[in-house]
Amino acid sequence: DFGLGSWPARRARIDPGRTALTQAGRTLTYAQLADGVERLAGDLTRRGVRPGDRVAYLGVNDISVFETLFATARCGAIFVPLNYRLSPAEIRYMLGDSGASVLVHSPDADDLVAAAGPHELQVVKTGDLTEGPPPEPEVGLDDPCLLLYTSGTTGRPKAAVLTHGNLTWNTVNQLAHLDVLGTDKALCIAPLFHCVGLGQITLPTLFKGGSVEPVARFDAGTILARIAEAGITSFSAVPTMLEMMCRHETWAATDLGSLTCVLYGGSPVAERVARAWLDRGVRLLQGYGMTEASPGVFMATHDGTLDHPVAAGVPHFFTDVAADGVRPLSAEPAELLVRGPHVFTGYWNRPEETAASFVDERWFRTGDVVRVEDDGWAHIVDRVKDLIISGGENVYPAEIEAIAVQLDAVDACAVVGVPDERWGEVGAAYVVARDGAEPDEAAFRAHLEQHLARYKVPKYVRFVDALPRNATGKIRRVELRKQAAQTYG
Ligand code: AMP
Ligand code: MG
Ligand code: MG
Repeated sequence: DFGLGSWPARRARIDPGRTALTQAGRTLTYAQLADGVERLAGDLTRRGVRPGDRVAYLGVNDISVFETLFATARCGAIFVPLNYRLSPAEIRYMLGDSGASVLVHSPDADDLVAAAGPHELQVVKTGDLTEGPPPEPEVGLDDPCLLLYTSGTTGRPKAAVLTHGNLTWNTVNQLAHLDVLGTDKALCIAPLFHCVGLGQITLPTLFKGGSVEPVARFDAGTILARIAEAGITSFSAVPTMLEMMCRHETWAATDLGSLTCVLYGGSPVAERVARAWLDRGVRLLQGYGMTEASPGVFMATHDGTLDHPVAAGVPHFFTDVAADGVRPLSAEPAELLVRGPHVFTGYWNRPEETAASFVDERWFRTGDVVRVEDDGWAHIVDRVKDLIISGGENVYPAEIEAIAVQLDAVDACAVVGVPDERWGEVGAAYVVARDGAEPDEAAFRAHLEQHLARYKVPKYVRFVDALPRNATGKIRRVELRKQAAQTYG
């Protein structure tokens, strides 16, 4: 067994007494984790879980997510972590789509599990898994390990199938880029049903024999306090979390001296947020990737991040990148193609969508527009689908949004395209004013006109209380586009 399920036992041979996982007074050494994983895998076996079967998980970030992940992998089965913020109907859909035979859930998911029922599969509460006969699977690197539902800002959710090899190679890539040590103490803040939470720093830290502390719910003040108190070295976050932390009242007084690396990704960050962290002497590194790539594709470097505070970085060690048409990437924006041993092999039960997402068989079409400067650093320009073509000119909403949030009075902004008789399409900006700031459309327009070509300035501007976002903080543009078409179209 060279799969993920063997990691705890392999690490336990080297560092049995080191802390693997710790949370709210419960601590597991690698030896204890390895032993626990073996017993839980036995219980799953007793419940009929066999290689290739799916074991779903529902619950907040917790030690039991890792125990269940490794135990499922030990059985050669496929782990399906589900987003506990979804509706019962969505959970039901994913349980059916994945064909899970067992659903493991933490006590806090009781109500959601009940509402998503009735269930034909076995439902087990985390504490109720005990033990059984040890599984004896031959797990290989090409075997599937994880089904991750992509965050679904468009269309019906589909699951990317990630193999043990995909996750291992992503870990190797992250470690080739980052100074992760066996003495590290990483907080696991980003949700574990998403690839940022699992792949960016958590699995690499466990691979190295460091310790990981899952955090059930994000709260900026609590996290800041915990960093100082526990001497946290690293964590991985989504940009909105970084923003809430650097705005928190305890930010300035918090000792951040133990942090050696803070990672983020999933969506773009405002430059002032990146600067706030870099100015505190924290090595803040942006990562760019996607579920389908396990997830890392580009990452900033320790040496380069100060000079490139908002760039996505350079390709990972074992990652090939190209522009649409399998050409070299350049300063000219183009759709990014990716290949490498960490790139998935397909979507679960979706042969057509899988076929459509690859070109030349091996290159995954990311759907993201990227440009690469002469120094080799990549900048994520926008999603292909979000591109607005106005009077024949390409307008990238992300460029406008980045300029918009430079205004102190603006907290967040999203620009979407609306059909227009004269221009084909025009932009509509949804703007969230900073707490206490008066919405001021004239000042907003003046700011954009000062920094952007005329044709890029949105025709319509509307101030709103909040933008619709999904669980990882990404803006739900489909919803905004619908709204804009109704209002202005
Ligand atoms: P997901 O489908 O949830 O795996 O999210 C992957 C998508 O998030 C990518 O295709 C990008 O559109 C976006 N994304 C990820 N990282 C970044 C980043 N660092 N900057 C901008 N967008 C990002
Ligand atoms: Mg995606
Ligand atoms: Mg602002």
